[in-house]
Amino acid sequence: MNALQDALSLPDPVAAGAEPRRITVPVKIGDVVVGGGAPIVVQSMTNTDTADVAATVAQVAALARAGSELVRITVDRDEAAAAVPHIREGLLKRGVDVPLVGDFHYIGHKLLTDHPACAEALAKYRINPGNVGFKDKKDRQFTAIVEKAMEYGKAVRIGANWGSLDQELLTHLMDLNAASPRPLDARSVTREAMVQSALLSAHRAVELGLPKDRIVLSAKVSAVQDLIAVYRMLAARSDFALHLGLTEAGMGSKGIVASSAALSVLLQEGIGDTIRVSLTPEPGGDRTVEVKVAQEILQTMGFRTFVPLVAACPGCGRTTSTVFQELARDIQNWISSSMPEWKTRYAGVENLNVAVMGCIVNGPGESKHADIGISLPGTGETPAAPVFVDGRKVATLRGEGIAAEFKTMVSDYIENRYGEGRSAAQ
Ligand code: SF4
Repeated sequence: MNALQDALSLPDPVAAGAEPRRITVPVKIGDVVVGGGAPIVVQSMTNTDTADVAATVAQVAALARAGSELVRITVDRDEAAAAVPHIREGLLKRGVDVPLVGDFHYIGHKLLTDHPACAEALAKYRINPGNVGFKDKKDRQFTAIVEKAMEYGKAVRIGANWGSLDQELLTHLMDLNAASPRPLDARSVTREAMVQSALLSAHRAVELGLPKDRIVLSAKVSAVQDLIAVYRMLAARSDFALHLGLTEAGMGSKGIVASSAALSVLLQEGIGDTIRVSLTPEPGGDRTVEVKVAQEILQTMGFRTFVPLVAACPGCGRTTSTVFQELARDIQNWISSSMPEWKTRYAGVENLNVAVMGCIVNGPGESKHADIGISLPGTGETPAAPVFVDGRKVATLRGEGIAAEFKTMVSDYIENRYGEGRSAAQ
């Protein structure tokens, strides 16, 4: 059994070696619960102009349909705030009731006061303690937002960010550090400032009357080791629900790898109640990729299941034709596009394991460990592809129609195992 299948087939990540989830105060955001041991929530953020209602509705709907359980939108000016209730309405008309999170910087207090329908339509307000206001305005503006959250019964995420860290706090800690007999390096002081920024604001919100079960914390950093250190400190020093994410993760494989590395270490330690993967999309690229990556992190680590994953070997000199790669891609795409319908008809189908293997060396062995697997012929082998179902060889496919025939077999397997008339043996 390979590592991926190992992870997928273990129902309990703790049994597989993860530390028990750290129990935080649960926060209800719309109908979604973050923390308190609830399943780790996947969230995402739009990159449309929020004032463009049609474009934002379309992207929120796409993110929600891809599996995002919370979607954050920028609320940066009056036009954006005025659009929020219309976005909510447009989504409900499409049958999408994903909770919306408003992202506020600098003037959140004013926007929430001037646009009560926006304050009502959002399920959570995200504020950044580093730019909620400066000097004497800071506490006044922070208080105004917290009071709006209390008035409308909403949750608040207090999200510190390395790039907009509270400079007054950082300067204060740097000064204290400089005067200390054993000063720390600047990086350690900055990490401490991140943690303190989030915690001090959270405690201030509680002091103002916002209950702990309406507060989520985050302290996002763009370097993996800093992120891990900061979240370990946050987790050790509070029981607030935690939103994990590597900020400015980057594009393509770099963004995916950096986010996966950082989040996986923390999740393995039981830290994190909701995650967002902050990928920079290619120009005109698909925003829903960040949702897919977040789901795959959680699924491959055994924390949640979302879609059947295809285990495929990497291929090598024994797979000189492209048949194997094409079939693996074809099956993966077919599964992804079929899932919206399958989810409504086949309870538990997301746990299915499929293997598409390239040759006789590991092909039959790996295919036997999947629920259903196919071992394609490598270069120079007899052009025949044995198919294994629940560990038993049930057929050998040949010729041009291998892909179509294999898909039919997968469909039949799903119907038999997860359909209403599922076989008694399952
Ligand atoms: S299963 Fe065969 S084709 Fe795939 S990587 Fe192993 S040796 Fe190569």
